[in-house]
Amino acid sequence: MIDTAVEQMLLKDTRSYVIPADVVANVTASNTLEHALMVLSKVGYNRIPVLAADDHLQGMISLAAITDKLLQVPGAAVDQLSHYKVADAMSPVGHWVDDPKKLETILNYLVDDPFIPLIDDHQVFQGIITRRELLKRINYLAHNLHVNYDVTPKQLTAKTPLHSHS
Ligand code: AMP
Repeated sequence: MIDTAVEQMLLKDTRSYVIPADVVANVTASNTLEHALMVLSKVGYNRIPVLAADDHLQGMISLAAITDKLLQVPGAAVDQLSHYKVADAMSPVGHWVDDPKKLETILNYLVDDPFIPLIDDHQVFQGIITRRELLKRINYLAHNLHVNYDVTPKQLTAKTPLHSHS
């Protein structure tokens, strides 16, 4: 459970920390890997979502997966990537959320994933929540907790865990 004070501080800024779908770079499964490589190089990200024509989230495509595919091609020439589709190299969506307020889940996922897709009840892609946006909130929390709350250390006992995870 996230501490209520921490949750309130993280959500204090009422502006959304979701990067909306219309500004998230994406490709479709039927795009060529050459096209996906161009998009990834242009935006400078390692991984972007793969969307269907109806905006359903289908998977993820990464620079590493494209490079891996390229290395399987004799001669490893980049133009060979035009013979392959994103569908040949995309990976399934590991984690997602359907509510941007599910902070505990989001924070846990962001430990391993640089971003988490947000989908609606019909699995339609709504946007992403990134480490950067969450870290901005955590930075605010780290600097302002004492402004909003009295924080005093508890007496440590032998039973008090010094390190605990989630
Ligand atoms: P950041 O926390 O800003 O470094 O973003 C983490 C990851 O989220 C990036 O490496 C990308 O994979 C993804 N990402 C962030 N912003 C966008 C965007 N506008 N379009 C597509 N992917 C993005």
